[in-house]
Amino acid sequence: MSGAYERAGWQRTHTCGELREEHAGSKAVLNGWVASRRNLGGIYFIDVRDRYGVTQVVLPEDLDASAKLAREDCISVTGEVALREAPNERMPTGMIELRAASVEKLSASKTPPFEIEENLDTSVELRLKHRYLDLRRPDMQRALMHRSRFIGAMRAAFLARDFAEVETPILTKATPEGARDYLVPSRVHPGDFYALPQSPQIFKQILMVSGMDRYFQVARCFRDEDLRADRQPEFTQLDMEMSFVEEEDVFAAWEGVLADTFKGAMGVDLPLPFPRVTWREAMERFGSDKPDTRFGMELIDVADWVSVSGFGVFEKMIADGKRVMAIAVPGGGEAVSRGNMKKLEEVAKTYGAKGLAWWKPGVEGGAGGSIVKFCQGDSGAKLCEVTGAGEGDLVLLVGDEESTTWRSLGALRLHVARELGMIPRVDGADAGSTGPWNFLWVTDFPMFERDEEPADGGPPRWVSLHHPFTAPADWDMPGDPGAMGSRAYDLVLNGWELGSGSIRIHRQETQEKVFDLLGLDEAQQQAKFGFLLDALSYGPPPHGGFAVGLDRIVALTLGMESIRDVVAFPKTASATDLMCEAPSGVEPHQMGDLYIRHDGLPSAGGAES
Ligand code: ASP
Repeated sequence: MSGAYERAGWQRTHTCGELREEHAGSKAVLNGWVASRRNLGGIYFIDVRDRYGVTQVVLPEDLDASAKLAREDCISVTGEVALREAPNERMPTGMIELRAASVEKLSASKTPPFEIEENLDTSVELRLKHRYLDLRRPDMQRALMHRSRFIGAMRAAFLARDFAEVETPILTKATPEGARDYLVPSRVHPGDFYALPQSPQIFKQILMVSGMDRYFQVARCFRDEDLRADRQPEFTQLDMEMSFVEEEDVFAAWEGVLADTFKGAMGVDLPLPFPRVTWREAMERFGSDKPDTRFGMELIDVADWVSVSGFGVFEKMIADGKRVMAIAVPGGGEAVSRGNMKKLEEVAKTYGAKGLAWWKPGVEGGAGGSIVKFCQGDSGAKLCEVTGAGEGDLVLLVGDEESTTWRSLGALRLHVARELGMIPRVDGADAGSTGPWNFLWVTDFPMFERDEEPADGGPPRWVSLHHPFTAPADWDMPGDPGAMGSRAYDLVLNGWELGSGSIRIHRQETQEKVFDLLGLDEAQQQAKFGFLLDALSYGPPPHGGFAVGLDRIVALTLGMESIRDVVAFPKTASATDLMCEAPSGVEPHQMGDLYIRHDGLPSAGGAES
């Protein structure tokens, strides 16, 4: 006895994307879903769909009547492959059809709440509630397949470079990536909590101490943030770490991995090496630490013009050590109306600017701008020379503290470029896609920034711009924390921060110094990071690493804006899973097991601490 089961008669011989001309005359069984059903003069045509494609099936009237098929029924259909009288060139299976001899309904479907079709226009809530139907749609299946191929290619690229895949714990201790932790109460240790990892950061560094040398992981990370646009409370990153390296080694590894991944998953050749800018240059030229380099319109320092402009407000700013900068919007003289200026001013103000000055070269009077008075004659000529603007263009100017000037003009640059259609869109994830794939390394980030209003209500203090394990540019860490450089770097693609990393602190005393600067006393250092400090006292190798947000890069390579469409079961902006209705209440005895008791809940909206 072999113990083997017979194949059932209803089981498919081919997928719905497989049959071609050469199969004509042969028998085939297809399994799939009824995508559509049409009656053409007593003959019924149905399209059967599965993950691989769609095949047209022809049903004689009597068969259709007995099968009583409805859309989205799951069926098995047996018949003979025949050449179509009217081929459909646009369908890969369009030369043939299956002439059904029998149909078996494997299971019936209720009428779906929305059409199972591409480019569906329905509410996100409905799609998420019935995610199994949403994921049946061809564009979602393509997205998940692309994700699978992309991650598979990336994994292969790391393995080929001698990286070892190691899993790190999900039930762990709080890791400081700057967000709130998801906590899991311990039943065995009443009153104690695990935290879900915000990233595998400390574990991967400890793997380096243990001599693993090169590690990577497709790692799930959890951050309990108020969800800003297009974030998920749990997300996936490709996390890696390497020993005995400096920045160049990490960059070379990633450039190689990404080139292999793009080639393997998409057939796309990425030009290497990726360009680089320092953080300061990125801020100075683009007003952003994640510059979109798919278009120009860079920030320009206009101090030289201010000195001849006679515009006292700006002159005083320069005298006070502030910055006056501008962007020149090509064609903005026509394209941006006076009414639009209100909106632009709002954008600038969102980023802290007190105002927005503007000028349209060649336009007289009030329509020429808020500072037209200071742009007459030589002054106007000078502003044109400095900014490169000419008649028909629009010059937008902000004067403020340096970082406010950068950030508000950076935001205006993006806003205007989007409004005026200046940003080339990615042309999809197929072989030969020309992107544009504007990768960019941003290097030399500052080490610390000042948090003037800490969320815990404490006094203003220094916080790490990256995370506290990032090495300082100078191991001696001299002087003012605000002026200290770090060895952190980011990778940007088309204006999105894809990932970040750094060369790490591998000297225990430097790590303690950084913790000191962050305001952690010895007891706090021991309680939170004692195990890391301990590990660092046993011959840690110099090491560094990086992590890329997989959801984001998968979405970007599909030309999609939202990561929700490349996550199989995402959560809403309020961190709810609408399909399984998580989070949800639990049985009182489960709370008891965990020693949790609550005396009623805060009123709606009051849950925030
Ligand atoms: N832990 C960092 C993050 O998750 C990445 C890194 O520094 O490697 O963003």
